[in-house]
Amino acid sequence: MMPGPREFNREAIPLRRELHRHAERGWEEFWTSAFVAQRLGSLGFNVLLGDEVIDVDSAMGRPPLEVLQEARERAAEWGAPADLLDRMGLLTGVVGILDTGRPGPVTAFRFDLDAVEVWESRDPDHRPFSEGFAALDDGVAHACGHDGHTAMGLVLARWISQNLDALRGTFKFLFQPAEEGVRGGRSMVQRGHLDRVDVLWGLHLGVGFPSGTVGAGCSDFLCTTKMDVLFRGVAAHAGGAPHEGRNALLAAASAVLGLHSIAPHGGGASRINVGMLRAGTGRNVIPDRAELALETRGASEEINAYMESRAMEVMRGAAVSQGVDLEVTLAGGAVNAESHPELMDLVMKKAVHLEGVERVEREGRISGSEDVSWMMRRVHDMGGRACYIILGADTAAGHHNGRFDFDEDVLGVGVALLASLALELAGSGR
Ligand SMILES: [Zn+2]
Ligand SMILES: [Zn+2]
Repeated sequence: MMPGPREFNREAIPLRRELHRHAERGWEEFWTSAFVAQRLGSLGFNVLLGDEVIDVDSAMGRPPLEVLQEARERAAEWGAPADLLDRMGLLTGVVGILDTGRPGPVTAFRFDLDAVEVWESRDPDHRPFSEGFAALDDGVAHACGHDGHTAMGLVLARWISQNLDALRGTFKFLFQPAEEGVRGGRSMVQRGHLDRVDVLWGLHLGVGFPSGTVGAGCSDFLCTTKMDVLFRGVAAHAGGAPHEGRNALLAAASAVLGLHSIAPHGGGASRINVGMLRAGTGRNVIPDRAELALETRGASEEINAYMESRAMEVMRGAAVSQGVDLEVTLAGGAVNAESHPELMDLVMKKAVHLEGVERVEREGRISGSEDVSWMMRRVHDMGGRACYIILGADTAAGHHNGRFDFDEDVLGVGVALLASLALELAGSGR
């Protein structure tokens, strides 16, 4: 009854390439959401869009409305249907629900939709370019594999919709916007979509695992806080009246050094990074504006909170020293989360039998952050079980690199694995 990875690949690879071409930044996935919504609708899913998917007050790091408007117009130019764009408003993301009509668990799958802000390679060795499916837009590319995740989600949804007799309970597909920068996950939790979920599966391809391997569960996500910081000073003539200025650039520069000098926490992993600094307007002007983008991470909420509060102290101190104002905006965040041991065992058991899988590791380690963590935590808090799977995939370059591409053959393995897990926990026995 269940097709092998190779058969799933015939459907998954063209979908992945279509998604890859239409790469969109986090919160701007209008074309992608419409593409997903159209397919889920045609498969008989109840499709939710816009504020039915996202709690806008807990959405983090959304770009300005005019940027979203522009992204929506681009999606329309790319052929996204107007009725679906209308339903979305300015919020991306899709939830699809399919009831088998038989009592049983609520099984949820989460896939992320967004691309990365990086220029895609135009080198002839880069397969998306040489085979004609490189990103249409400049400066944004599917360099993390989320195109593959979404493609797997769509193939799995098709398989489930055509095998309802073999299944019981309700299936819920969560297509999340803005995973990059951990901005979108919390808003789907706050909208209530994880409240009555019995089993939640999330996954990522690649992340250092080669093709043929599977990481069954992952429990080392780091808690993280992303901050956008603005130092606001006073501009003045650098020759005639420097004393009348308030130098935002100097405040930011001393803040950066101070931030990177915060003592690491002794209780577990801690990190800080200032990834962007932009300041000043011209050579002969005392700079009145400086912007930083920074993140803290920690192995536990306590450790991340330590990094965050020390960072705030350092920045306040730097602002006071130059007499400038400080504004800090929360731009994203994720918590840590555990994969449920029973589900890890089940992945171990199922994955070893799959064609294309040679090695399964219990508890894959990635030492990164992923905002599926909000969802996993919610499911566990409400008495359900959640698990994150790492689907090994050879990659042409590291994640977030403009030359990133992955071994597409793993897509079918991912679909087959998720389908077998669904059958195991929500099979009707037919
Ligand atoms: Zn990424
Ligand atoms: Zn990713």
